[in-house]
Amino acid sequence: MAKNEPRCSFCGKSKSEVNILIAGISGHICDGCISQAQHIVEEEVTQRVESTISKSLNLLKPRDIKSHLDEFVIGQEQAKKVLSVAVYNHYKRITQKDENDDVEIEKSNVILLGETGTGKTLLAKTVAKILNVPFAVADATVITEAGYVGEDVESILAKLLQAADFDVTAAERGIVFIDEIDKIARKSDNPSITRDVSGEGVQQAMLKLLEGAEIGVPPKGGRKHPEQKLVTINTKNILFVTGGAFGGIEKLISSRLNTTSVGYASKTKRLSKVESENMYQYVTPQDLKKFGLIPELIGRFPVLTYLNPLDESALRRIITEPKNALIKQYIKLFHMEDIKLTVDKDVLDFMVKKAMEFALGARGLRSIFEAVMIDAMYDLPSKKDTKEFKLTLSYAKEKLKNSTIQNLKVA
Ligand code: ADP
Repeated sequence: MAKNEPRCSFCGKSKSEVNILIAGISGHICDGCISQAQHIVEEEVTQRVESTISKSLNLLKPRDIKSHLDEFVIGQEQAKKVLSVAVYNHYKRITQKDENDDVEIEKSNVILLGETGTGKTLLAKTVAKILNVPFAVADATVITEAGYVGEDVESILAKLLQAADFDVTAAERGIVFIDEIDKIARKSDNPSITRDVSGEGVQQAMLKLLEGAEIGVPPKGGRKHPEQKLVTINTKNILFVTGGAFGGIEKLISSRLNTTSVGYASKTKRLSKVESENMYQYVTPQDLKKFGLIPELIGRFPVLTYLNPLDESALRRIITEPKNALIKQYIKLFHMEDIKLTVDKDVLDFMVKKAMEFALGARGLRSIFEAVMIDAMYDLPSKKDTKEFKLTLSYAKEKLKNSTIQNLKVA
């Protein structure tokens, strides 16, 4: 070794002992120390990102999550409770530090069973807001098997990435709500039946998302183009909540319940009691399988809960009580025009009655409100001297009568 041979200022090795030695102003660094330093930098950056995410995540206790949900969602006690526990466990799981033991907590993806407009999307959206994590909604019906016309499952992740402002680490801890999962059910419980493109294939495609894979996502959504640069998203820690009305599943549930009850007397008694209740509450994974979901998919959603149909009193409360209740939104809109909006009580009763007729759950309320308010919202901002608007029953009836919304009425 030459006497004056330069040495790495970090590990002390001489030039002949290393592959590359880079000279700086007052010292040297070897290739070994460079890669070690790079490793340290990468770890440090990851830790900082992790801790920013943990800080931005507002992980409340299940009871607190539930009471926040109460501010936005009326009724649906069981679903709120189950969802609060599921999200709490999920985020506890992904923020847990102790990786040394062998007990791995599984992901708690959730299926929400309930009629349309009863608050499934609202629950998922609100829980994401409470926890301060990115949220995306997708419709299962637009997803197709790879190769068919329609959206790829990747587009769901693209939406989540957009909701996370293209922050991949944040997106990887987001919540995705997939609506109308029941619409991609296999037409029959019998897997040997001829392949159906719309059903099983799509369910298989969805499995890819749920399995915790690294998925290449076109950041702008849409189909993958060969020239579009893909962003890799790991779905391991994304919480999937899915919802569906599962129309007709009541029959499957009730026939299962009846065949499992013992004795004739108890059978008839149980039937009449059960039929008057919400059948969804008795749902089991077995019923979902009978309905046409493949077992692999059901297995990826270990948490199963239900929503109740909204009755008149629930609809009435939905108009006025939630933090962003419909009526509060209209009052605010009018207030922005310096107009004081007042609504007669009997108008609300009338709207509830109409919403029940339309059988669209709370979604019907919004459409009814819009139909009633459209003319006022169109005219009043141009009328400088109007300072007050009183919504009366006769006005509401008149507006609704002339609106196309009447066509919604179910026979
Ligand atoms: P679903 O997903 O079950 O079809 P949504 O959650 O999309 O229904 O509900 C549609 C709208 O109706 C929501 O944005 C909300 O304004 C209102 N809504 C539905 N259910 C409830 C509820 N239980 N409490 C408060 N608002 C509700």
